[in-house]
Amino acid sequence: MPDAAVETRSSEATSGGATQQVDVAVVGAGFAGLYALHRLRKAGLSVVVLDEAEDVGGTWYWNRYPGARCDIQTVDYGYAFDPALESAWQWSEKYATQPEILRYLGFVADRYDLRRDIRFRTRVKAAAWDEAAQRWQLATDNGPRVSCRYYVMATGCLSAPKPPEIDGVRDFKGEVYFTGRWPHHEVNLTGKRVAVIGTGSSGIQAIPIIAEQAAHLTVFQRTANFALPAHNGPAPADRIALLEGDRAGYREQARWSLAGVPWPQQTTVSWQLSDAERRERFEKAWAAGDLIYTLSQLWADLGNDVDGNTLVADLIREKIRSIVTDPKTAATLAPFDHPFGAKRPCLDTNYYATYNRSNVTLVNLREEPIKAITASGIATDRRTIDLDVIVFATGFDAMTGAVTAVHPITGRGGKEISAVWANGPQTYLGLTVAGFPNLFLITGPGSPSVLSNMAVSIEQHVDWVVDRLVALREAGFTTIEATETAQAGWSRHLADCSMLTLHRLANTWYTGANVPGKPWGVMPYAGGVGPYRAICSEVVSRGMLGFRLSAPDAPEQCNDGEIVRLQPDVRLVLNMLADMKLPAIESLGAEGARAFLTMVNAGRPAGRPVGEIVDGTLTGTNGPLPYRLYRPATQGPHPIVVYFHGGGWVLGDEQSDDPFCRDMCRRSGMIIVSVGYRHAPEHRFPTAAEDGYAATRWIAEHAAELGGTPGPVLVAGWSAGGNIAAVTCQLARDRGGPRVGGQLLVCPVTDSTFDRPSYSENAEGYFLTRALMYWFWDIYCSPADRTDPRAAPLRGKLEGLPPAFVLTCEFDPLRDEGVAYAEALRAAGVPVEQLEARGHFHASFTMVDVVVTGVSGRARMAEALRRFAGLPQDTGQLRPDRNPLPPEASAAAE
Ligand SMILES: Cc1cc2nc3c(=O)[nH]c(=O)nc-3n(C[C@H](O)[C@H](O)[C@H](O)COP(=O)(O)OP(=O)(O)OC[C@H]3O[C@@H](n4cnc5c(N)ncnc54)[C@H](O)[C@@H]3O)c2cc1C
Repeated sequence: MPDAAVETRSSEATSGGATQQVDVAVVGAGFAGLYALHRLRKAGLSVVVLDEAEDVGGTWYWNRYPGARCDIQTVDYGYAFDPALESAWQWSEKYATQPEILRYLGFVADRYDLRRDIRFRTRVKAAAWDEAAQRWQLATDNGPRVSCRYYVMATGCLSAPKPPEIDGVRDFKGEVYFTGRWPHHEVNLTGKRVAVIGTGSSGIQAIPIIAEQAAHLTVFQRTANFALPAHNGPAPADRIALLEGDRAGYREQARWSLAGVPWPQQTTVSWQLSDAERRERFEKAWAAGDLIYTLSQLWADLGNDVDGNTLVADLIREKIRSIVTDPKTAATLAPFDHPFGAKRPCLDTNYYATYNRSNVTLVNLREEPIKAITASGIATDRRTIDLDVIVFATGFDAMTGAVTAVHPITGRGGKEISAVWANGPQTYLGLTVAGFPNLFLITGPGSPSVLSNMAVSIEQHVDWVVDRLVALREAGFTTIEATETAQAGWSRHLADCSMLTLHRLANTWYTGANVPGKPWGVMPYAGGVGPYRAICSEVVSRGMLGFRLSAPDAPEQCNDGEIVRLQPDVRLVLNMLADMKLPAIESLGAEGARAFLTMVNAGRPAGRPVGEIVDGTLTGTNGPLPYRLYRPATQGPHPIVVYFHGGGWVLGDEQSDDPFCRDMCRRSGMIIVSVGYRHAPEHRFPTAAEDGYAATRWIAEHAAELGGTPGPVLVAGWSAGGNIAAVTCQLARDRGGPRVGGQLLVCPVTDSTFDRPSYSENAEGYFLTRALMYWFWDIYCSPADRTDPRAAPLRGKLEGLPPAFVLTCEFDPLRDEGVAYAEALRAAGVPVEQLEARGHFHASFTMVDVVVTGVSGRARMAEALRRFAGLPQDTGQLRPDRNPLPPEASAAAE
């Protein structure tokens, strides 16, 4: 088969109205475009890079405003593909200035002789896939058109400045500047009356320096942002020592880290620390002046839990109040409408202290909106401010702006990318778009990009793309295109990942909320740099899963499917378990399995505090049974939930689901009594079922003593515990009480057949295996007894049972019998709420604070319990556990 890509390499560039023929056209000569050019060339492909700028640098070419610097330490923010390059360049500061970063990128361009293939001052205006030629045709505003086999948009996430939304900019007679398009000539602000509109990263960097020059500076703030002191200076000795001690290891750790900077995963959660310990950690971070350190190293729940986040947000607000002398200004500067980190926090030098200067005024646009820009200044609805200069630091149309500015980009069948993205960007891996063959986006929406150290992400994206082009050539293919299935799966995975963080709780450029009319959605990949890298590699190892590869006169290859169907944190947990190469539980014997469970439980995060925990003993059918009672911190009495732990009737005890019981207690505001029912093989069927019933009766009879409200109790259980809860409801109905007000069944065992599809689909690989279920059944119950409704409640009479909430997980052998039970209950007239949890496995919902994506499901369970007990629903807003998501994101999460 002819290698069309190689064939075209020989064609010559032509000038004027002719067309330049290349294998690959790369748009953008920033960090990404430069590295792409270097790699593509080394791979033997002909390349042209086009950039509207006059030189290399991208971000660092355009953003020349006073104070512009990187906010990732420069030891980390640079290329790592060539150790010789690293030793040839020395950074002078912890956070390099824009001129220094621009010099660095120029140095890289020279070192690898890149400029000879770059066409500067050339904007790509439009791009069209030429079906007949199987090539992209690019229209430019300068010089020849470009025809290329592969079209790589390295156009930048933060390169399309957002136009001001204020009337009258053109009427203003003074000077107007945009931070993202700062002039190359000296801008003299000395003695001038200057306004800065916008207090994002650029504004926060520029404001202190402009304040030193201007006669008066007026800052217009719409949204207060969190800023941390950079404490710039020489690069910290400890980071340098780490890097120089093992450069390759350091870089590799960065590649597999969450944010592209090699910090270890923090495991201590906020509630495990005292106030003093948290403050000590915070002060250390404040003194360190490092964004990623502060975001990742304080406590593990800072980034995914509103309570854990509020603790640090409060400490930062306290700092702001301590720095800014005027209390009203301090209050205006204190962010209140988004969690710390949900909007990109800033690193600053003297930002808050700048407001103590007599020549600086802060205008809060939320109280005093701008009416118009006039010839002489800015008119708010309260006053007119005369100005000589207006600086717009209003940010970017992030992630999609530079892509859709090339208009139209027309793919297969005349489809335009702006139409395909009308409801939000759709990509596969953030790198490709279905219907747009041979188009690659570097740091596109759906890639980790702006949630990471972009130098690390860019290298990974470029390496992946170039390696694919080489592999295509070797296999004789000329086109590659994502499938719709793969792309839809990636969109779901992105939405799932956004549940891991608090980004969805803020209106930011991450979600498109800063651009009027832009569809809302968390655009970057929030699952982390390392996991993303692993997924990209898995796409390849699974035969280019989700891609269609073709060539003229060759059979097409399409291995269709979704790369990630598990919830992102479930995937991590299962990968971790697989890496541990644990023995099969059923091979350990009952005692060994119990010891194993105890060991596993010892290593899990401690559950969160509840009002009180009481251990006691209740009277069962044949003697005492232990219980553990979890009482809410609120004033009692509270309704009681009788809880049965999981463990296949063989493992566990009244404490083994401790984090889950605490969580249910906190969320539902009810007493949870976890029962230590007896286990097989010592006590086989029907002991567990009868113990469950007897315990429920005893607890109902002793409700007042336990601090419970009079009236019906509720029952709940997970796995085999769900089985006992379901059976208890049937026995209570048939044996004249106690009254049960509702049943919460989490992944319950409801039947004793193993022929439903979920048993074979999920037979292995999802922790609870088919073999383990066989083992549990064999130990608990002889085959002859398995049709007894006390073993298989699905076979019992279901009429007249209390309302139920039944949760099942997609990747669980027990899924289909749980669904069958819910359907059978409904058919019997029992009110049923069902949650079929997509991407979850058997233990997802009891692994509290590990499987964070289980939060919304647990919130729904708690709501169901409250409903069963006749309590009002909790309407707290800014808590992920109370489901604050927009409806579409919420639906995606389930
Ligand atoms: C002020 C500022 C500070 C930042 N600090 C950090 C930091 O500390 N750490 C970090 O990780 N990231 C930071 N970033 C993000 C930064 O954008 C990336 O780190 C990186 O520089 C992006 O490189 P890139 O090559 O992908 O895109 P860019 O550097 O944005 O380059 C894109 C290039 O494409 C060109 N282009 C776009 N469209 C067209 C077209 N149609 N035709 C021709 N040319 C086109 C543009 O002119 C531009 O030169 C910062 C961004 C800003 C704005």
